[in-house]
Amino acid sequence: MTELMVNNANNAHPLHQPPAERGRRASRRRFLTVFGTAAVGMPLLGACGAVPDRPAVAADRKGPMGGAQPRVQASQAASPGREVKRTSFPITAVGLTWTGSPRGVRLRLIDRNGKPGAWQKVTAGCPCAKDPETARTKSTTPPNRALVPAHGSYGYQVDVDSGVKVIDAIAIDAGTSGTKGRPATAATPSNSAASGTGGAPAFPPAGVALRADWGADETKRFTADSSESSPTRFTRAQAITVHHTATPLDDPDPAATVRAIYEQHAVSNDWGDIGYNFLIDRQGVVYEGRFSGTDGIPAHNARDEVVTGFHTFAFNPGNIGIALLGDFSKEKPSTPMRASLVGLTASLAALHKLDPLTGITYTSPTSGKSTPGPALGGHRDWTSTECPGSAAYLDLSAVRESAAKLVR
Ligand SMILES: [Zn+2]
Repeated sequence: MTELMVNNANNAHPLHQPPAERGRRASRRRFLTVFGTAAVGMPLLGACGAVPDRPAVAADRKGPMGGAQPRVQASQAASPGREVKRTSFPITAVGLTWTGSPRGVRLRLIDRNGKPGAWQKVTAGCPCAKDPETARTKSTTPPNRALVPAHGSYGYQVDVDSGVKVIDAIAIDAGTSGTKGRPATAATPSNSAASGTGGAPAFPPAGVALRADWGADETKRFTADSSESSPTRFTRAQAITVHHTATPLDDPDPAATVRAIYEQHAVSNDWGDIGYNFLIDRQGVVYEGRFSGTDGIPAHNARDEVVTGFHTFAFNPGNIGIALLGDFSKEKPSTPMRASLVGLTASLAALHKLDPLTGITYTSPTSGKSTPGPALGGHRDWTSTECPGSAAYLDLSAVRESAAKLVR
C-alpha cells in the first residue's frame, strides 16, 4: 500500500490567513493519495475498466468545535459487486451517486480486519443539484445520491441492480466534533412574539452555528489556482424549501454529518460548497450552509439578497434551502428541530416579506422561466422526489401556520 498523505498541521482558520496562504493550502487538495485495494472473497478488479482514484486530502487539524477536520479518501466504485475499497482511516460515511433505480443499490461495510458486514439497501436521499444553467455537466435530471453511515469501518463494497450506474463513491472521515464550542441550544427568533418582546422575528435567529463553528474547511471551496470553485451569486429571495438528508435519526455527531455532506457536495460532486443554505439537527441546532461572506450573517449579502445554493434543481436562485438532518419518511421532526424550523422560517419570511401560507410564482433569474409553487414548501413541491420525507412534508402545513403567527 502506498500513501502520499497531506498532513496539514496549521490550526488557523483559513479566512484569518492572507490570500497567498489560503491559495497554498487550497492547492494541497490536488495532491494524490493512492490507497491499496484488497479483495474479500472476491477477485480484484483488473486494470480494464478501473477508474483511477481521485485526488484527495488527509488533514489532521483540530476543528473549531474541538474535533478533527475532515479528511477524505475518494475512490470510484468502478466495478460494483466485485471491488472492495479499503481505507487506512475509519470511515464516517460513504457518499454514493448513481443513475437508474433509486432503490437499486446495496452496500456492505468492511471492518478493520477485512471482514465484511451484511449487505444493506441504500436509500436515495435528497436529489439536490446545481441548476442546469450553472452546472459544469449538463443534465435534465439530477442523479440519485446517498450518504451511508459507516461507523468507523475501514472499507466498503457496492452492489447494484442491472441498469444502475454508480457515478461516484467516496469514503469520508469527517472526524469527531467534541463538545467544546458546540452550540447547545436551539435557534430561536430574537425580538419575536415567541420571546415575548413583540414584533417580527429578527434574522438571523439566535444560536446559529456558523461555518467556523461546525468546522467547515474553507480551502475546499477553492481550486488549485486559488479561485473559488463556485463563486457566490446573490439574488432576491422568492421561496423557502425544506429538505431532509435521509441520514439516520439517531446521529451521534450531527456536526460531523454536516462536514461529510459538505465534503460530498463540494468535492465529490464538484459543486465547490455544501448545497443547502441551512441545516438543522434533532437538538434544534441550526447550521450555516452555503458560504455567503465573512460578516457572520448566514446565507445573505449586505443587501439582504440570498446566496444561490445547490438543492432544488432548476429552482435554486432565490430559493432558500433548509435541510433537516435525518430521515423523515416515517418519523416527524423532533420538537426542538421543529421549533428551530419554525423560528428560522419565520425570521426568513419576515426578512423577505414572504407569507408562509401563500403560493408564489417563482421566476428563475437565469432561465427566465416562471413556475407556481409555495412560499414555504418541500422539495417535492418543485420536482419529483420523496424529499423531505412524507412525515416531514405532512407536518409542513402546521409549520407554516406556526411561522405565520410569528411573522404577524
Ligand atoms: Zn431535497
